[in-house]
Amino acid sequence: EDSQKWAEVDSYLVSHLVDDDPVLQQVLNNNHQAGLPAHDVAPNQGKLLALFVQITGAQKVLEIGTLGAYSTIWLARALPVSGKVVTLEADPHHARVAQTNIDLAGLQDKITLHTGPASETLPMLTAEAPFDLIFIDADKPSNPLYLEWALKLSKPGTLIIGDNVVRDGAVVDAHSDDARVQGVRRFIEMIEYEPRLSATALQTVGSKGWDGFVLARVIS
Ligand code: SAM
Repeated sequence: EDSQKWAEVDSYLVSHLVDDDPVLQQVLNNNHQAGLPAHDVAPNQGKLLALFVQITGAQKVLEIGTLGAYSTIWLARALPVSGKVVTLEADPHHARVAQTNIDLAGLQDKITLHTGPASETLPMLTAEAPFDLIFIDADKPSNPLYLEWALKLSKPGTLIIGDNVVRDGAVVDAHSDDARVQGVRRFIEMIEYEPRLSATALQTVGSKGWDGFVLARVIS
C-alpha cells in the first residue's frame, strides 16, 4: 500500500509540475504496443533530466540505454538549438521503436541512435567527446565498464547520472547473487575511489517503485 501512495503522490506532482505532452504519451503508447518493458524514467524524472541539461548548459549529451527513447526525447528537447544527443541501444527491436519515436518527435537532427552493445559503440565516440552530460541507464552489470567510458568521454564539469542504483534496497546486500546489484555496488565503489569525481546518490519512491540515482560531477 506504500507503493500505491507513492504512485498517487507522483500523479499529484506530475499533474501540477509536468506539462501534459501528447508526443511523449504517444511514445509510451508505441512502446507498450511494441511490447517494450515499461522501464522508461517517470515523467517527473524525465523532467529532472531536462532540468539537469539546462542547469549544466549541456550541448552534448550521451545516453547509454535508449529503450523507446522516452528519456532521450526529454534530454534532447532541453538542449539549445545546436545541442545533440548520442544514444546507445543494444536491442534492434528497441532501437527501431526508438527511431520511430524520435522521428515522431521531430528530433531526428538532434538525436543520433547507435544500435549495438554499448561496449562496441562507446569506442566509436572518442571523436565526438567530450560530452557535457552522460546518462547511464542500460544493463547494470556493465555499469563499471560504462563508468570507465564515461570518464574517458568527459571533461571537467561533465555530469554523470547513473540510474537504478537502489533496486528496492537490494544494493545493501554485499552477498547478492544478482549481477545487477553487484554491478551497481562496484559502480558506487569505483566512484568512491575516483579522485576525478565528486558524487552523491539519492533514493527515490514513486510510480516506478523504490529506487534511486547517482549524480557525479567530473572535477578534473
Ligand atoms: N533510458 C530509457 C528511458 O528512461 O526511457 C530506459 C532504458 S532501459 C532501463 C535499458 C535499455 O538498455 C534497454 O532498452 C536495453 O535493451 C538496453 N541495453 C541492455 N544491454 C545493453 C547494452 N549492452 N548496450 C546498450 N544497451 C543495452
